[in-house]
Amino acid sequence: MGALRDRFWERPLADLNTEEWEALCDGCGRCCLHKVEYEDTGEIEHTNVACKLLDTKTAACTDYRRRKTFVPECLRLTLKIVDQVSWLPPTCAYRLRADGMPLPRWHYLISGSREDVISAGVSVAGRVISEDVAGPLEHHVVDWGDDDEEAA
Ligand code: SF4
Repeated sequence: MGALRDRFWERPLADLNTEEWEALCDGCGRCCLHKVEYEDTGEIEHTNVACKLLDTKTAACTDYRRRKTFVPECLRLTLKIVDQVSWLPPTCAYRLRADGMPLPRWHYLISGSREDVISAGVSVAGRVISEDVAGPLEHHVVDWGDDDEEAA
């Protein structure tokens, strides 16, 4: 672990320490939603069904430190795989920085407020249903509007 350096988010991902890597997440919650992958085509569709650990009102993980204990398949985004996770939203801070793009103005590290990811319409807070009550994923396929989403 290390301290957060001044404007660390402008550094290459490979240069970030563990604390900075964790702090880069905007908390949108998109990676905590289930996807439907079709075996025959490999096509992935998005849903509004959240992992059982996600607080659907705030889009925060309710047990981030122990999440792998309860949800072993939870993706741990690392430098090695960030380029391979094709379903990350275009707004994802890791995806943006991996592509050499700046963080958007609503990112809390730029704006100073963790609420701005919600007012920008990027967070899934209040827009998802828990897997505990959702039923079949195929009934919850949604379009999050990534194709026309403004990332800046
Ligand atoms: S999609 Fe990216 S920015 Fe959003 S919660 Fe997941 S890791 Fe964080």
